[in-house]
Amino acid sequence: MNADTKTARSVSENPCRMCMPMGGILPFKGIENAMLIIHGSQGCATYMRRHMAEHFNEPIDVASSSITEQGTIYGGEVNLKQGLKNLIKLYEPEVVGILSTCLAETIGEDIARITSAFVKEQTGSSLPRLIPVSSPGYGGSLTEGYFQALYSIVENVSQESPPHHGINVIVPHISPADTREIKRILDVMGAPYTLLPDLSDTLDSPYSKVYKRIPPGGTPLASIEAMAGAQATIEFGETLPDGLSPGKYLRDQFGVSLYRLPLPMGIAACDKFLELLKTLTGNPVPEALKKERGRLQDAMIDSHKYNREGKAAVFGEPETVYGISRVLLENGVTPAIIATGSSNPSLKGLVEGLSHSDEAEPFILLDTDFAELRRYCAAKEVNLAIGNSDGRFLTEKEGLPLVRVGYPIHDRIGGQRILSVGYTGTVMLLDQITNTLLANKLNHYRNDLYQEFYRSAGAGQFE
Ligand code: SF4
Repeated sequence: MNADTKTARSVSENPCRMCMPMGGILPFKGIENAMLIIHGSQGCATYMRRHMAEHFNEPIDVASSSITEQGTIYGGEVNLKQGLKNLIKLYEPEVVGILSTCLAETIGEDIARITSAFVKEQTGSSLPRLIPVSSPGYGGSLTEGYFQALYSIVENVSQESPPHHGINVIVPHISPADTREIKRILDVMGAPYTLLPDLSDTLDSPYSKVYKRIPPGGTPLASIEAMAGAQATIEFGETLPDGLSPGKYLRDQFGVSLYRLPLPMGIAACDKFLELLKTLTGNPVPEALKKERGRLQDAMIDSHKYNREGKAAVFGEPETVYGISRVLLENGVTPAIIATGSSNPSLKGLVEGLSHSDEAEPFILLDTDFAELRRYCAAKEVNLAIGNSDGRFLTEKEGLPLVRVGYPIHDRIGGQRILSVGYTGTVMLLDQITNTLLANKLNHYRNDLYQEFYRSAGAGQFE
């Protein structure tokens, strides 16, 4: 196989992505007192709950309209309306997300129309805010579902508001630990903000003896309403297409200035974030954050001499792999392959713009699957994989050590606690990458020496 030319695939084998409605669930989980229902078969909701429960190590409530064989033929409208009634009675939410699936979209269900019909039929009762999101599983990856839902939330909720000094901060699907770190940086910088969505407590709740159907926390509805009056929006989503950008919606509809940044992973991206906060707030960067930056520089010096041997395959959702690639390129690890299951149009150009030399230019795989990724890992002789748990087959089949980061992490505990943003998170990620390279080297060096010197000297003839 020519390692520099992508060959055409006729089938997908173990896709390198999660489906759209799975992504659509996450923003609703980061809104205060929100619940959601999946319009489709029981199996879809079960699959999504299972992945989320294993990643976040929390109970995950997602309702299902449970379309059966009969609904598949005659339509699932009755099921969805009954499901909504039950959900509203049981959970008493303020917001309900209504997400479609492959099945619902394939049989032509119009969830926006069904939602309007439901609202009309319930005249007189006080209903939560119902937000339909069209999310066929085959329509994109987790990223497209996530931002489609986030866009629908902002479009439905935000409304003309008096101007204020607040800053909207829109984040992609990062961990609760990452969310807390971004909030901490905003607090330390003295920035008034609305962070959307806020999974920091809802999907990483402190232990409590009392079970609450909807965990406390999340972005309050009133704050989302007021996003239209903010002084600016910071959207962590350089790879995000315009059509899915809630920040662009706020700019076009309400004139809120938009700043698109990469996730604050790596020293340059963190600096960019702090520079912008300095400009928007008029506050200086405090000593505590300067020290954290200095510690990251120190860690970079400590690890750079080992990193040169790293040749990595990075895979996952576009914004995550872009952020990780920035960290690798800053620290001397070659991102030989950058892969995503999304068909993202801007990732290739962004990553190529980061490379310093021809040698470091990464090979980009879009809309890929793990069978293809595995073949390219062998062809490009990579020695490290960085991505979610679905890459464990790269370890099993190719012997590649895997640094687990992203979503989902379902074969280890603590997915919700993985920290990789900010100066501190970058240090943690960098240490993990360098230590994995070192462990791999130390595990194999005797055998490598033997193969290289002993056998090539002809000593093997006496075995
Ligand atoms: S890909 Fe389609 S069928 Fe599979 S879980 Fe997602 S929505 Fe359901």
